[in-house]
Amino acid sequence: MNWEMNSVLNSVKFHSLEKWKYEEVKHLCKELNLYELRPVEALHGIPAKSVSLRHSSGVHLVYSGDTMPNEQLIKRGFDCDILIHEATFQQKDIAQKSYHSTVEDAIDVSERMKAKHTILTNFVNEDLSQQTRELLLSKSNVTVAVDFMRVRMSDLPYTPLLNPFLIHR
Ligand SMILES: [Zn+2]
Repeated sequence: MNWEMNSVLNSVKFHSLEKWKYEEVKHLCKELNLYELRPVEALHGIPAKSVSLRHSSGVHLVYSGDTMPNEQLIKRGFDCDILIHEATFQQKDIAQKSYHSTVEDAIDVSERMKAKHTILTNFVNEDLSQQTRELLLSKSNVTVAVDFMRVRMSDLPYTPLLNPFLIHR
């Protein structure tokens, strides 16, 4: 499978879903070979969207954007192939105050969603507790993203093997 999720993410990032008109969404779906693009209202301090995308190859990708754990997203993304979820803060109280998710939150969402692969974004490699580190290293289907990382579908079974090198002591 040659489809690169980067192309989808770039398109999503630079559009405000609120302003999308039907024709634009239709055009985007055609350009990217998507047969479904569904925004989900994020749980964030400012208006924000998560999105569920289904590609004509059959791949179902869910992108959280900035959000706290969201039941609606779990429903919409159930059984997805790839969940890209933010994991901005390590401490639960700080994450909740700023409407973000912790690593534990993101992994919990991914397990309840039964996502086949999960990529954690906004990941800040600072002050990781031993518990969080061990949780991350115990997951064979969770990948820690770094800036400018590009991943192909066929890489996903192997990218978690990078985690020990991306999670500093
Ligand atoms: Zn935000």
